[in-house]
Amino acid sequence: MLKAYFKPDAIKKRIHQIDLVDLVKRFDLIVLDVDNTLAIKGTIQIDLETDRWLRTLSELEVHVLICSNNPTRAAKTIAEVYHFEWLNLALKPFKFRFQRKLNQMGIQYQKGVWLGDQLFTDIWLGKRLGFHTILIEPLSTNDYLSTRILRYIEKKVIG
Ligand SMILES: [Mg+2]
Repeated sequence: MLKAYFKPDAIKKRIHQIDLVDLVKRFDLIVLDVDNTLAIKGTIQIDLETDRWLRTLSELEVHVLICSNNPTRAAKTIAEVYHFEWLNLALKPFKFRFQRKLNQMGIQYQKGVWLGDQLFTDIWLGKRLGFHTILIEPLSTNDYLSTRILRYIEKKVIG
């Protein structure tokens, strides 16, 4: 039962392996995590394939929100390159910061998809909000101790 509650709808090794045409056909709001999903944790360096994927995404008719728990300017810096909306210090897995941001944006969406590397922030929140959820394998293992402990539990849950 616990497993079903946290289980992502899909798992991908790298975000740029996701077919954007298919994604945009199915969803009208895309939420992207930053640390270890778009860039190695603590950096804003995006690899070439991911950059190409994000540039293509920026040209498609879909709402995109970059949503990071990190309090730094990383989410803003990346979002501005691609003209996406952004939210830092998102306090995932809590809903309220995200929902307030959605209200501020004033966007209407039918079906959202949530992409991130952590079960207990991205996937858990996405599922509770009724999003389709895609777990991305983390770009690095350079996690905080608290995240490392969660990773151990994630393995038990997914495995
Ligand atoms: Mg992350």
